[in-house]
Amino acid sequence: SHSSKTEPPVTKTFLKFDTVIQLKLYGDEAAEKHLEDIEKLLDRIDQQINMSNPESEISRVNAAAGKEAVNVSQETFDLVKKAVEYAQATEGTFDPSIGALVKLWRIGAGGAHPPADDLIEQAKSLVNYRDIELDAKNRTIKLAQAGMSIDLGAIGKGYAGDLVSDYLRQEKAGSALIDLGGSTIMALGSKPGGDVWRIGLQDPDRERGEQIAIVQLRDETIGTSGVYERYFIDNGIRYHHILDPATGAPTQNGIKSVTIIGGTATAGDALSTAAIVKGLQEGLAFLEQTPDVEGMFIMEDNKVYVTSGLNGKIKLTSPQYTLVD
Ligand code: ADP
Ligand code: MG
Ligand code: MG
Repeated sequence: SHSSKTEPPVTKTFLKFDTVIQLKLYGDEAAEKHLEDIEKLLDRIDQQINMSNPESEISRVNAAAGKEAVNVSQETFDLVKKAVEYAQATEGTFDPSIGALVKLWRIGAGGAHPPADDLIEQAKSLVNYRDIELDAKNRTIKLAQAGMSIDLGAIGKGYAGDLVSDYLRQEKAGSALIDLGGSTIMALGSKPGGDVWRIGLQDPDRERGEQIAIVQLRDETIGTSGVYERYFIDNGIRYHHILDPATGAPTQNGIKSVTIIGGTATAGDALSTAAIVKGLQEGLAFLEQTPDVEGMFIMEDNKVYVTSGLNGKIKLTSPQYTLVD
């Protein structure tokens, strides 16, 4: 007989999407096969959407900007369609057509100075999710303006997370902990023995693995976007990798990170980015009126704000931070 209560999980760790992927399957007799399939699935998504791979479907769409519609796989089509829907829902604070600005700023890719204003204006004019033309019948994507480009960096990992959880559910695989680089964490099912999962939330000021808080949950998804991992400093200003499509520059509104709890992983990824761009007040209000999700904002002054559904449910484990009620 098989006792999942005492069995340790079967795990797999590898690099993908420029980050560390950690998979843990509990009480799953076909765990080895499932882990292999998940790695293949993530590989496939990466090959479809990775902008730095010129062969990817997204790169082909970008190369044809202003010229022609490009036929893509159903998965890529669905992802871009969802991305456009999140752009609409967030009033363009999340915008998957951000590519021209990302390339201009080169954050984390060797940029050291902010670009000139006229270049920012020019790139900004190429960012507009309404110019992503989707044709469901022919399964094609066309970018209306030459020079435009799609960048799925703020939603791709979440989407991949949802595909992983769909797959595991379909396989009736039991429970699992899926960690895509710390920014998408999925606790599927409940822990063997029926326990809740206790998930540590990353302290943005510390090394990977240092926690600011522990949340207890069951069958839930956590998505975090933060301004602390990719950045450069110029003249005392920190320029990080989350850009405000309205200004064409990295946000500077005192937010260090936003964590979304609940909803799909796709939602968690897209909405955490949008909430950073919206800022604390507008971001909190936006998440309050968005069904299924709660949010936690960590500010540069170490104050922590949460949406009403998290009141009393978050315990900070670091004395450096204060929860504001
Ligand atoms: P993380 O890198 O922690 O997952 P995000 O999910 O916010 O953080 O993704 C940030 C990436 O998304 C950036 O590196 C860039 O490629 C892209 N991006 C930056 N600003 C925006 C924005 N306003 N809307 C959509 N994508 C963005
Ligand atoms: Mg995101
Ligand atoms: Mg992300």
